[in-house]
Amino acid sequence: MPSKKNLSALLIVAHPDDETLWAGGLMLSRPAWKWHVICLSRASDRKRAERFFRVLRYLGATGAIGDLDDGPEQHPLAEKDVEQAILKLLPDAQPDLIITHDPSGEYTRHKRHEELSKAVITLWRKGSLQAGELWTFAYEDGNKAYYPRAVLKTSFYRLLTRRVWLQKYYLITRVYGFGKTSWEARSTPKAEAFRQFPNPEAAPALAGRPRYPGRPPLQRPDRTGRRCPRRSCGFCTGKRMVLPLV
Ligand SMILES: [Zn+2]
Repeated sequence: MPSKKNLSALLIVAHPDDETLWAGGLMLSRPAWKWHVICLSRASDRKRAERFFRVLRYLGATGAIGDLDDGPEQHPLAEKDVEQAILKLLPDAQPDLIITHDPSGEYTRHKRHEELSKAVITLWRKGSLQAGELWTFAYEDGNKAYYPRAVLKTSFYRLLTRRVWLQKYYLITRVYGFGKTSWEARSTPKAEAFRQFPNPEAAPALAGRPRYPGRPPLQRPDRTGRRCPRRSCGFCTGKRMVLPLV
């Protein structure tokens, strides 16, 4: 990873909320970094766009929003159009690091995440996007078997502190306004992971749709059956204490 302490990071996401769900913890725990977020859709959705900028202020980031199609049908978009939309929103300054979706998406399934990832990687390979490094979000949902989870076997995996996770959860539920039983609220990951690529040659292959293999749950019940000393520590289900596996 670039060695500068206060590096500049450009986050490129498909929807207002993706920045919080997949990288909010990283943003909150690296306040010295210069963060800029570009979001490719929902500029004409006034409420959601407004909320996006409120979230960015909370996260200490600047940003821009575009208006790519985000209809529920998820009609495939031409790669050229996605690339153009990204280039239009780029800030003037070149970032040290770009962070975006993974070509396999973060869950099963949103085509925009996958299309956007492919377009960013293509632009980086062509040199139209310049950065010292590129990271992609690393999450999987076991083909819909569970809510998206950070992939353990990545070069960057961090279990969030409860304080940081609560801030993410606040942004999703109170600022974006997703209900507590919504997919977004239930998904809000407690750990974050990224795949890190130091140069375009190392970036993930775009052919096909790679899938992470499913893995056992992140937490396991404590066999002793003790009650959690922190009560609602964020990792507990029911009365039995649950210990993170990491
Ligand atoms: Zn999204």
